[in-house]
Amino acid sequence: MSENIRKCALCGLAVEIEGFNVQTTEGLKHFCCAGCVSVYRLLNGDKIKE
Ligand SMILES: [Zn+2]
Repeated sequence: MSENIRKCALCGLAVEIEGFNVQTTEGLKHFCCAGCVSVYRLLNGDKIKE
């Protein structure tokens, strides 16, 4: 069961809350919080598919 733990694509912390996901050209990325999503969007805006 513990294999379901995901890590934040930005900071590497365990993702405990579902919902902070971003579809990118590299696949679906998971993030731990809205802050990490915001930073990822700023840094990788060209990879985000929406
Ligand atoms: Zn994070």
